[in-house]
Amino acid sequence: VTPADGHGRWPRDAQAGHLLSAEILSIGTEITTGETQDTNAGDLAQELTALGVHVARVSALPDDIRAITDSFARATADVDLVVSTGGLGPTPDDLTREAIAAICGETPEVDPAIEAWLRGLFERRGLSMSEMNRKQAWLIPSATALPNPNGTAPGWWVERADRGLIVALPGPPREMRPMWRDHALPRLRERGAGADTFTRTLKLTGIGESAAAEIIGEKLLRAPRPSVATYARAASVDVRISATGDEGGSSAPDLVERVTADLELRLGEYVFARDGEGWLDAIGSRLNGRTLGVVEIGTAGHLTALLGDAPWLVFAELLGPRNPIVKTHRSPEPLARRVREAAPADVGLAVIARERGADTTVSIAIADGRETFRERRMAFLGGEQGRRRAALVGAAALWRRLGSS
Ligand code: ATP
Repeated sequence: VTPADGHGRWPRDAQAGHLLSAEILSIGTEITTGETQDTNAGDLAQELTALGVHVARVSALPDDIRAITDSFARATADVDLVVSTGGLGPTPDDLTREAIAAICGETPEVDPAIEAWLRGLFERRGLSMSEMNRKQAWLIPSATALPNPNGTAPGWWVERADRGLIVALPGPPREMRPMWRDHALPRLRERGAGADTFTRTLKLTGIGESAAAEIIGEKLLRAPRPSVATYARAASVDVRISATGDEGGSSAPDLVERVTADLELRLGEYVFARDGEGWLDAIGSRLNGRTLGVVEIGTAGHLTALLGDAPWLVFAELLGPRNPIVKTHRSPEPLARRVREAAPADVGLAVIARERGADTTVSIAIADGRETFRERRMAFLGGEQGRRRAALVGAAALWRRLGSS
């Protein structure tokens, strides 16, 4: 297994019969001219990634024999598995079969069984099959046909001489998807495509994606193994650490755990949850058996929506921004104490969000019976986005306070 080394080489293992890397070719001038939106490539990229196959490249190509043949040649040199869609029609500008035959050095011939099936299709519709359609019955010695119950173009499953694979699928998604799901995918699984991938996720709050990336450092973010990536999500900035297979004596889980532990040390104060956990787990573990009562104002109920499923949330109240209480209580402290008593709960949280220009100010108070803690923050953006973010700011403030008291 060779890792991606930053020079266009990707994990490859076709020689051992495994399929670890893939390229997707979307074939058709309609795609390169923008007439058709390429949905096939995205669908297949998702499927291959889920299978544990590294998608090294996605390319779109016009109906040009030179371009298609060159791309197949380059892709088969680079990756274990090449998946193409389109160009399997009967017309002279459908060139996928010709290109694959050329790079395999084989000559296509009409397969009698496929031809009989095609003739049957046309006869049942009362049509005569044109000579052109015989092309769709072509096979080469290295190819077997993938059945197409939704069209006239069978797919090609091509065993390459280097033990890699080419899978050619039709272009129309309603033909491509069933063929992929019912015929290509089961055979790929049987061939042992993909590798077990080990992944850890750290969820951060109180830090932006770029600041997090700066702490992680370019070296780690660019390294192929483990792969470390940041994602700005709605409720957190996620850091995803993942690796595949076994290499240089370090198994994927060992390596990922080691790098995760190092990142936890460096990002520690911002990490509120890991892997499948979210705000409920983070706050729940710091409440440590205590109960919570919440009053939220001007946040459109987003805080209750966020925490509402938690067993420790015993009371939640939503006030509109024009409620008279908001006028009489400019500050949230008395509200936090009141909701704590009214709930009754061990901890009371009050959050008041006010739109200020393009942003939203958030006043937060947390009452735990001993003292009332007060904090003011800004949430980026106003309007619905601002209200949503203000609720998260409130949850984050509670989590931090619970960690320090
Ligand atoms: P068939 O002979 O069954 O039509 P084909 O393999 O020849 O299949 P194409 O002629 O390349 O397919 O494309 C047929 C239609 O499929 C296109 O007009 C377009 O609507 C759709 N299509 C092709 N490629 C894609 C793609 N990558 N993403 C989404 N739709 C596509």
